[in-house]
Amino acid sequence: MSVKKEDIFDFTKISDDCIKCGKCIPVCTIHDVNADEVTSPRGFIDLLGAYKRGELELDKTAKDIFESCFLCTNCVEVCPNDLPTDMIIEQVRNDIRKKFGLAWYKKLFFFLLRHRKIMDTLASLGYVFQTCGFKIREKEESMEPRFSLPIIKKDRLLPSASKKSFLNSYDDVIINGGKGKVGIFIGCLANYTYTNIGKSLLEILEVLEIDVYLIKKQLCCGAPAYFTGDFDTVDYLAKHNIEYFESFKDELDAIIIPEATCSAMVKIDYAHFFHDQEEWKKRAVDISSKIFMATEWMHNNTKLKEILASKGQTSDALITYHDPCHAKKMQGIHQEPRELIKQNYKFTEMSDSNRCCGFGGVTMQTEKFHFALAAGRPKAAMIRDTKAEIVSAECSACRMQITNSLYESKVDTIFKNPIELIAEALKK
Ligand code: SF4
Ligand code: SF4
Repeated sequence: MSVKKEDIFDFTKISDDCIKCGKCIPVCTIHDVNADEVTSPRGFIDLLGAYKRGELELDKTAKDIFESCFLCTNCVEVCPNDLPTDMIIEQVRNDIRKKFGLAWYKKLFFFLLRHRKIMDTLASLGYVFQTCGFKIREKEESMEPRFSLPIIKKDRLLPSASKKSFLNSYDDVIINGGKGKVGIFIGCLANYTYTNIGKSLLEILEVLEIDVYLIKKQLCCGAPAYFTGDFDTVDYLAKHNIEYFESFKDELDAIIIPEATCSAMVKIDYAHFFHDQEEWKKRAVDISSKIFMATEWMHNNTKLKEILASKGQTSDALITYHDPCHAKKMQGIHQEPRELIKQNYKFTEMSDSNRCCGFGGVTMQTEKFHFALAAGRPKAAMIRDTKAEIVSAECSACRMQITNSLYESKVDTIFKNPIELIAEALKK
């Protein structure tokens, strides 16, 4: 027995279908750092069933509980009934947002995600003034706040701003030889902070002689707002992106995304989000056939692997790979980045590459940062145990979280997206 597609938002049915077997509990990220039945998949499902039956008030305690889930989907992967705990928690967070509103800084952040020009200006100002409030750490492309704010703790690393966003740094169209045509959806973190990812992707596509369309009117995929329950913002961003992608979808072979969370949001979560808007759901499903993670598409549709293989080992650096939840569990992408990296680097697996890094979203990175820290420590320890010089993952949310966990645990390993490693190997 598994949940039918039409039942995925029926809390009562899901609650009834939970057989209380407990298989989800040992793999649950929040239960691991807060061992309480109410912060476990089984507990969340039980409480959500009670909420739908009118037996549980959505008060501050319930809000606190439902905002504790990392949305890592570990529980979904092991549940014998495929119960979608993450998706029903995303739904109830919208009810929480309607009842309690959003904190000022979340409102501001989601406003900026809707207004790219203002975000561009603020990001440039942030680059100019970041040294006033932060110590810059070039090695990790990060900065350390010089003082604590209610939402930013002093002893943590944040990604540092780039001088110019990725999308504002290149022409709209880059002709490389016409062996294919792809659009790039870059994601906000790689657009404003980890800009070397986009630069590296352009370098790879040049070697592959594939033309590039930067599709510059793209907006944020909406994942930060979706995980926080701001469904108005998700509705705005998803409709904008779907309409925009439809306008050129037939001209492109693919829209490639070097970011697991953005890719899973556009490819999979847009259709879930529009479950009650039939026309938009159909349009989201239609567009999803053109959306791919960058390593996935280049591995399966180009000669990249052969070109890398022809170079042999180009570096002595030992690499380990972390599987982002939104890549492996949601999209089944895990072999492709490994196979590409292994052509030119020494490679080792960590003891549990599948374990969630503990990023968890905006609320987890601010109000509940103590949980993110606790969930990050075991990941930092298993990376240290590999003795790898570089940990890689095709996800900038994982990068932000893992970089901070390594810093907190005093582990010297640095982080690179597989796209950066591949581009470096091609230059040798
Ligand atoms: S999504 Fe992750 S943190 Fe949330 S209940 Fe499932 S396993 Fe636990
Ligand atoms: S694994 Fe599934 S059925 Fe078993 S307790 Fe967890 S949510 Fe319920």
